[in-house]
Amino acid sequence: MNNQERRRIRLLFSGIVQGVGFRPAIYRIAKEQNLGGFVCNTPEGVVVEVEGHPRHIEGFVPAVLNNLPPAAEVAAVSQEDLSVRGEQTFQIRSSRDDGDKDVMISPDLAVCDNCLRELKDPRDRRYRYPFINCTDCGPRLTIIRDVPYDRGNTSMACFPLCPQCGTEYENPSDRRFHAEPNACPLCGPRLWMTDGQGVPLADDFPDPVEQARELLKKGKILAIKGLGGFHLAVDATNEQAVQRLRARKYREEKPLAVMVGHLEAAGRIAEIGRLEQHLLSSPQRPIVLCRKKRHGGIAPSVAPGVPDQGIMLPYTPLHALLLEDDSPPLVMTSGNRVDEPICQKNREALLRLKGIADFFLLHNRDILVRCDDSVVTAARGKTVMIRRSRGYAPRPITLQQCYPDVLALGPQLKATLCILKGNQAYLSPHIGDLETPEARAFHSESLSLMERIASCRPKVLACDLHPAYYTTRLAKELPHREIFRVQHHHAHIVSVMAENGLSEQVIGLAMDGTGYGTDGTVWGCEFLISDELDFQRAGHLEPFPLPGSDKAVREPWRVAVSLLHESYGHDWQEMAQRLDLSAFASHFELLNSMMASGLNSPQASSLGRVFDAVASLLGIRHTASFEGQAAMELEAMADLPYEASYPFLLRYEDGRTLLDLRPLIRTLAQERINGIDPHKIASRFHVSLIKALAATAGEIRERTGINRAVLSGGCFQNRILFNGVTRELEKEGFAVYTHISLPPNDGCIALGQAVVAASRLKRRKS
Ligand SMILES: [Zn+2]
Ligand SMILES: [Zn+2]
Repeated sequence: MNNQERRRIRLLFSGIVQGVGFRPAIYRIAKEQNLGGFVCNTPEGVVVEVEGHPRHIEGFVPAVLNNLPPAAEVAAVSQEDLSVRGEQTFQIRSSRDDGDKDVMISPDLAVCDNCLRELKDPRDRRYRYPFINCTDCGPRLTIIRDVPYDRGNTSMACFPLCPQCGTEYENPSDRRFHAEPNACPLCGPRLWMTDGQGVPLADDFPDPVEQARELLKKGKILAIKGLGGFHLAVDATNEQAVQRLRARKYREEKPLAVMVGHLEAAGRIAEIGRLEQHLLSSPQRPIVLCRKKRHGGIAPSVAPGVPDQGIMLPYTPLHALLLEDDSPPLVMTSGNRVDEPICQKNREALLRLKGIADFFLLHNRDILVRCDDSVVTAARGKTVMIRRSRGYAPRPITLQQCYPDVLALGPQLKATLCILKGNQAYLSPHIGDLETPEARAFHSESLSLMERIASCRPKVLACDLHPAYYTTRLAKELPHREIFRVQHHHAHIVSVMAENGLSEQVIGLAMDGTGYGTDGTVWGCEFLISDELDFQRAGHLEPFPLPGSDKAVREPWRVAVSLLHESYGHDWQEMAQRLDLSAFASHFELLNSMMASGLNSPQASSLGRVFDAVASLLGIRHTASFEGQAAMELEAMADLPYEASYPFLLRYEDGRTLLDLRPLIRTLAQERINGIDPHKIASRFHVSLIKALAATAGEIRERTGINRAVLSGGCFQNRILFNGVTRELEKEGFAVYTHISLPPNDGCIALGQAVVAASRLKRRKS
């Protein structure tokens, strides 16, 4: 074939194309089509040059798109014609040859179908080998010590490849070409079982996986070393075993996730729609919150009182072996003590989980980066992120604008941190609540990790307004140049704006439990006219006192008392007695004087607390073992279709629209006293609140002419509220924007902080 009959093109693939086996896939297709050229990673994406017969060139992109590795997602392909060079062979160019570091760190990927097939094939050399992986799957983030990502910089460095694994690793047409964690039973990590004290079990039972399955069947609690940390596992159909786990872990009522062997098993315990199916089996393998079925066979103590069951499918080969052959679902909850981060190292786990786990299933591939399971749910046909961690982090989120480098330290609870660099936002895996020294140490680890992953040490910091937050104090201690402090709810709204590429003013609805306001009070039902620089508080819920301050979070009855006090004045105690709050009557006088004096009784406009209070008024729950528990149970109770709504008032004062829910509380309380079914009241409460929030937004639109509404805040994890407010605002002609990749809860705050700080910096420079 002479050069006239040849054609050469250059392609740039962007999207999720690095660290997911994309280059070997390209290599195989180019070989099949007899094309010359090369493929390499660049900061912009994967660059491919191919040349050969025009018909093969024509068919190349469709062939690639039809044969993508499971975790790859192509967002865009650009193409340009080049002059022919006569290149006959095709090669994978190492990105390091260009003098450029390959710094792209992929999230961990669930075990792929090809590896699963080999895992179950008695003729395969990796038959039942719990660490099987390939370029399409396996550990990534959780085994890195440093960048660039190659074996020497991972916890696989201490496992020299055997000749066979080495050949696979070197061969571009092999599925394990440059699979950094490649291993086999001869050369790779191994598994063993110990008792509760860490003493290895006798070898008379040679297969630790079988041993583990037997022990789980007997109702034992196992600590299982996983991908990003330890799980505590127990048979999810064994009520006694689950109760024992709860008693030992002090996790009294928080719902526990379960792992099932396959989709069909998931369908037995919950409603699994098409989107849920897709999410459950995606390479990210998150925990998916699904509506429980009534007789799903799961022990009642697994997720008591809440509407959803968190479900996930096996995501490591070890999980696949543990859940083989229709074995019962397993509770898989993160292996930690309450309020501490997930355990990472064998010795640490043996120490910290002693007394909780009866046995330990350990291995010797070190976890170098902790990473909790991610949590998602589906609402209005879209994925709603609840916790963005394993499988998603540290993949950067691509923004529509470029920003100066900023490090945002995140909020106090559900913390993540964020590095903004150009148009990329690098969010850390979930860190958790920064209340313990362990959690704060984890925050520091994450900080240096993210600086290495983003290869960037920003000189500008962003943090919260709250003077007592750990991250606020940390900001002052870090040797950086400048600190920008960002209001919590402003950060909520701006994170949605950044995800959606909005820069003009919006009406932001930030609905959550708590955030420090510019006036020093607790905010949490906020209508903010926002742009990326600043905001104006255009409306909010009428504040009410929180008698006992932080105590009110775990004791919803206190908030119920406060709302009765607001709604009935002097007669509130009589109403409280009639509403089954008499158990707390001995506290009434004290609370009365606290609310009157304001002592230890801060003003709050928190919607999260209103949910708690209503749950208490309906007798659903007066004290909670975790934040949001009462609100979740109230949502579960609101299971009736459309219901008549309760009255509310809007007042305009000092340039703000104030939402007054006292008429609603009075009607609701009266219905409760009249013996109306609490399911009905809970449903009406939701409907009324949806109307009230939409009406407030409507009034602000009238004043300002702004038609873009942005929703964020933990309250929008309530699906009835989220669906209802979205629907109502759209019905009123609003353009409604919500999160895309980030959670509506405080997991989004770091991005918002970073973008606000970067925008202020940008404005000053211009
Ligand atoms: Zn694989
Ligand atoms: Zn090997």
